[in-house]
Amino acid sequence: MEHKLPELPWAQDALEPHISAETISYHYGKHHNAYVTKLNAGIKGTQFESSSLEDIIMKSEGGLFNNAAQVWNHTFYWNCLAPGKGGQATGAVAEKINKKWGSFDKFKEEFSNAAAGNFGSGWTWLVESNGDLEIFNTDDADTPMKHGKKALMTIDVWEHAYYVDYRNARPKYIEAFWSLVNWDFVNSNM
Ligand code: MN
Repeated sequence: MEHKLPELPWAQDALEPHISAETISYHYGKHHNAYVTKLNAGIKGTQFESSSLEDIIMKSEGGLFNNAAQVWNHTFYWNCLAPGKGGQATGAVAEKINKKWGSFDKFKEEFSNAAAGNFGSGWTWLVESNGDLEIFNTDDADTPMKHGKKALMTIDVWEHAYYVDYRNARPKYIEAFWSLVNWDFVNSNM
């Protein structure tokens, strides 16, 4: 089964001024695309040739796992973002956030700190684990499903996600992320 690079849910310049078309063009068109290409090359002639993406993530390790997880992580990340969104959480996830952190602002602060402090390349996630919400950092390609946690929202904190727009200023990119969060998608993952 050939894995395909999914279409973006919006135009490449739709997230401006928060994330530029140039960033999306590289991040989606080069990085995400390369993970898909390497995944397809990596499964050839292996037991994973006709496996679903999730199956490969759960059952593989090493390079194959890295490429499969990065394909999944990026598709999930694009869906977490949308133009004209952002602001406070909505719906059921807002209620759970308020219950756990007391306020949206407190959650936002803790999530932002986790993302800023996630050393090197990785992802910061809002996950659901045993019915409870958690902020969860992963390194490199690692992904919540591998840890039995359900991803609700993520921010990619690899430098390629922000270097074009914000250079080394990861906190500025994290601040911009809050103007783009698609809470409808986050709620749909609960
Ligand atoms: Mn990335």
